[in-house]
Amino acid sequence: MRASLASSRVGRRVFLGTLLCGWVWSSWPQAVLASSSWGPPDGSPASLSGSSSRLRKASSGQTYRLTLVRLETGERASVPFSLDGKTLYWPGYKQLCAILRDEHVPPDQGWVQIDVTTIEALWAVQEYLRRAGIQSPIVVHSGYRTPQTNAQTEGAARNSYHMWGKAVDFHVPGVGLDDLAGICQACPASGGVGYYPAGWVHLDTGPKRFWMG
Ligand SMILES: [Zn+2]
Repeated sequence: MRASLASSRVGRRVFLGTLLCGWVWSSWPQAVLASSSWGPPDGSPASLSGSSSRLRKASSGQTYRLTLVRLETGERASVPFSLDGKTLYWPGYKQLCAILRDEHVPPDQGWVQIDVTTIEALWAVQEYLRRAGIQSPIVVHSGYRTPQTNAQTEGAARNSYHMWGKAVDFHVPGVGLDDLAGICQACPASGGVGYYPAGWVHLDTGPKRFWMG
């Protein structure tokens, strides 16, 4: 896929041009972040800061599935985080948060509720690729970081969004990093996008910005 996307100028133009049409972005579950508060239905670990759940009646019936693989361990989750585009599906969301945990500390310290907008941004990127015929998972290099882990991460910003569960470093097998960075930038929910030629793209939900790592 790298060849068909990155090495062909025509292919790249078509690819990114299609992106601008917005047929993926218009179908994502914005209602989850825009109009719902959410939280675990049956209590949460102490490290979580869940808010009360305000469930909304399902309407679209679309399932929002995200497939993540953790680079270091090979752990995989392919689960929906919403069954209706309006409310969070807690069991699936929880599995995704587990994949995105800080692996450098014990699980009970490294597991937090990842920002839902960040989850949706990842979904939108993956959905765009899926509709382009790319079934590859998002391979996570880094998700949530404790302050200690962030401090020990080379090149990490002092106030990194990783510490707030609002940033993910990842790549998608078969997709050029330049294409991936472009898709992330085009995603309405994305804020910061960093392009790291060493092998990953950073996506966060802070203010809109772009940089080369
Ligand atoms: Zn990052």
